[in-house]
Amino acid sequence: MKIDDTIAAIATPRGTGGVAVIRISGPDALPVADRVFSAKTKPSKARPRLLQYGKVCAGDTVLDMGMCVTMPSPHSFTGEDVCELHVHGGAHLTETVLQAVLDAGARLALPGEFTRRAFLNGKLDLARAEAVGDLIHAEADLAATAAVNQLEGRLSKKICAIRDKIIDLTARLSVAADYPEEDIDYLSLDGFAAELKEIIAELDRLIASAKGGQMLREGVRCAIVGRPNTGKSSLLNAIVGSYRAIVTAAAGTTRDIVEEVVSMGGIAVKFGDTAGLREGEGEAEKMGIEMARAYVQNADFCLVVLDSSRVEKADLEILNFVKEKPHIVVLNKNDIAQFSGDFSSPCVHLSAASGAGIADLEAAISALLDSMLEGDSLRRADAVRLTNTRQRDAAVKAREATTLALSTIENGFPPDLTAVDLENAAAALGEIIGLSVSDEVISRIFEKFCLGK
Ligand code: GDP
Repeated sequence: MKIDDTIAAIATPRGTGGVAVIRISGPDALPVADRVFSAKTKPSKARPRLLQYGKVCAGDTVLDMGMCVTMPSPHSFTGEDVCELHVHGGAHLTETVLQAVLDAGARLALPGEFTRRAFLNGKLDLARAEAVGDLIHAEADLAATAAVNQLEGRLSKKICAIRDKIIDLTARLSVAADYPEEDIDYLSLDGFAAELKEIIAELDRLIASAKGGQMLREGVRCAIVGRPNTGKSSLLNAIVGSYRAIVTAAAGTTRDIVEEVVSMGGIAVKFGDTAGLREGEGEAEKMGIEMARAYVQNADFCLVVLDSSRVEKADLEILNFVKEKPHIVVLNKNDIAQFSGDFSSPCVHLSAASGAGIADLEAAISALLDSMLEGDSLRRADAVRLTNTRQRDAAVKAREATTLALSTIENGFPPDLTAVDLENAAAALGEIIGLSVSDEVISRIFEKFCLGK
């Protein structure tokens, strides 16, 4: 893809709003702006980073009265000359202004192309560029916090630090191979092994952080299961009534399972009300049950809803069905009956009808998620995490290569035999921050971004 042309796109969401922003980036951004914006001073001559009021035009036709700001290279998001037109946020008007910009010499940007240029021009490393996308798509507080941490460069810094250690170690190992007779402390094989073990431990911590990172980024899925009439739909309504509902662009997994996504304790949780899991009579009911089973398999955890006034054998069968999944027993209808029996799983007594006890459910879900993370906690706002499969796979590769290097040393082979493995480890970490990634991977990352970003 050429990087010497000038791109433009609407940077704000489609639709009607107070203000819309059209962003232009590239070597001709300022001349293009001069052609479509008329004010006391031409955009190319105006003071950078200062909004100027004027006319937005298509030839002689005035389209709008708006503002223009320039951010000359290299002090811009993309590192190129950038210009933004702030116009009134009419859907038709914005498209018309974009067309005028394109007619003036820019080309329509591809999805994520501004951020891609920022990456290619060295303004952002790949992990930070990915964080831009994650931040835009974050649906709940903790996901946004994790993304902004990554955007600030915390993950990149950590990766660079580990990679530097590996490169430093590689250099010292090659010195040790060249001077095997020297008895220098920092060249001792025991010392190398200890350093490699420390690096492996750091990589293990990072790899372990990926599960939480993914949960934050993608949200967690919860299957609400139970016999008919135990109050599953009522519980879903109570949850939606108590927490901020998230309107996701992504379609639900199945039309027959009612799904609602809410922000609970800062995490996006997708609750799905499944059909009763009990064996049914009719064909339709059987299909519903199959779907419910599949939904449970794909869920991160389950809420098993029981009616406190009538706990039956069928409830225990359902509990048995979900026993391999993290789950919470919800003893519903505690306004009409108290159930005093014991379960080995965490239990919450509540009334979906009145909403009493829903806060206890939130606490129990939060504890359950933490227990699934084995020592990690999603609420650790300062945690450095891997947040997607690409990053995790690269960290796993780095760990495998470092482990091979360690076994070379521990088995008494010459230290320079570790060089290839350590180079592979450094390269794998480099992939996370974009030092050694193919064009194909880069394209795959940025094409998921929205238009105008
Ligand atoms: P589902 O079939 O499991 O989805 O159950 P529903 O949510 O449709 O509820 C079944 C019946 O139980 C309805 O008549 C609800 O009004 C009632 N119900 C649900 N939750 C409660 C509760 O907390 N207390 C009482 N007393 N009734 C409830």
